[in-house]
Amino acid sequence: MAECKNQNSCGAKRPATGETDENLISKKPTAMISSLLEDPAAAIANTRHEFGEHGGVNMSIEASATFTVMEPETMQRLFAGELGPDRDFFIYSRHFNPTVLNLSRQIAALEGTAAAYCTASGMSAIAAVFLQLLASGDHVVAARTLYGGTHALLAHFLPRTSNITTSFVDISDLEMVEKAIVEGKTKVLYFEAIANPTLVVANIPELCRIGHEKGLTVVVDNTFAPMVLSPARLGADVVVHSISKFISGGADIIAGAVCGPTKLVNSMMDLLQGGLMLLGPTMNAKVAFELSERIPHLSLRMKEHCRRAAVFAERMKKLGLKVIYPGLPDHPQHQLLKSIGNSEYGFGGILCLDMGTEERANKLMNVLQNTTQFGFIAVSLGYYETLMSCSGSSTSSELSGKDKELAGISPGLVRMSIGYMGTLEQKWSQFEKALTKVQNLGLPYCNNI
Ligand SMILES: *Cc1c(COP(=O)(O)O)cnc(C)c1O
Repeated sequence: MAECKNQNSCGAKRPATGETDENLISKKPTAMISSLLEDPAAAIANTRHEFGEHGGVNMSIEASATFTVMEPETMQRLFAGELGPDRDFFIYSRHFNPTVLNLSRQIAALEGTAAAYCTASGMSAIAAVFLQLLASGDHVVAARTLYGGTHALLAHFLPRTSNITTSFVDISDLEMVEKAIVEGKTKVLYFEAIANPTLVVANIPELCRIGHEKGLTVVVDNTFAPMVLSPARLGADVVVHSISKFISGGADIIAGAVCGPTKLVNSMMDLLQGGLMLLGPTMNAKVAFELSERIPHLSLRMKEHCRRAAVFAERMKKLGLKVIYPGLPDHPQHQLLKSIGNSEYGFGGILCLDMGTEERANKLMNVLQNTTQFGFIAVSLGYYETLMSCSGSSTSSELSGKDKELAGISPGLVRMSIGYMGTLEQKWSQFEKALTKVQNLGLPYCNNI
């Protein structure tokens, strides 16, 4: 054990020789009962628990940018890829870092993938995956309704910088998806599990079947539905996340993750060809520590976001409002989500209210924030307070007028990420008060009235 510098690292480090375990990046427990682990919360609880250096119940933060070796020859072996994080050998924190790796194992368990790695933002995870999987001249088939930044990346940035082109399709039209695939040229099928902001639910198993038949890699953004949907368990090859949203829950951190096969994650860290290693959107170890402390209560938070969103959506509908929520029986993919979603998590923590015009949407948000304190006018989602934004003029403003129309984003669409602060009834009465006030201003809150 020449590599040991102290007792604790001796305990943690594996011998430098002997068999390697392909799956160690994910540290998947071998004897797991798969049916039990269908609940992402159970899978997370089964990941290896890291204790602190001094026996603390929480892990220590490995804040080092660089790592020493006891013998100079070891450095050579590290760079040759003979020794790596699977045996607790680290080189430099733009490459694997122990604390970021620990969070990544939790995210891999959440998504049921063999491996994962966390990044500095959701956009960097998404961009790095595209650049890893695609070469100049390749083609992507992507959903028409995507997060504005992802849409801009595919529609403008990648064609200009990398000669990568994209056809945008309505993913609920499976025939249209199939027709858009150009054999030999299309390499990736990309969509969001629940789309931002229209809340279209993707038929993940069918889309994966179509993509795989044509040899594509299916990449799914699961930012809107952690715990609620498990795209990899439904057939997706790669799952990407903006951790900045529900997974963080605090609206205080920008972060992302790539989840997929061990081979993909390792290829993204390759010293010569790795999209994460070479572009360098590295997550700080201190950030990884903070986030890893929030993973244990993600399932509780998601359940409450979803429960309240469902109650509000139902009540809003009863009031005659035009509300879009996958938990309502009139949502086009209600039955689909019921059949592919993880049980007990409901239908997501986001609902949309179509106020018809931007003026009406703004009036309502203004009263909801500044008079009745129902929530905040802000982009983003997954916070403990309710966040509201008018999608067409904010997070989807990257889309042209025509693209917005095609995506089904009306100018008066208010996206609400339902929080869990206060009591449900307290929040509901704040919403009702705001509606009455808007009506008194002579702005009917819905077209039917
Ligand atoms: C916010 C968001 C992103 C981008 O993530 P960042 O962490 O802000 O870089 C990507 N996809 C979806 C669906 C998002 O909501």
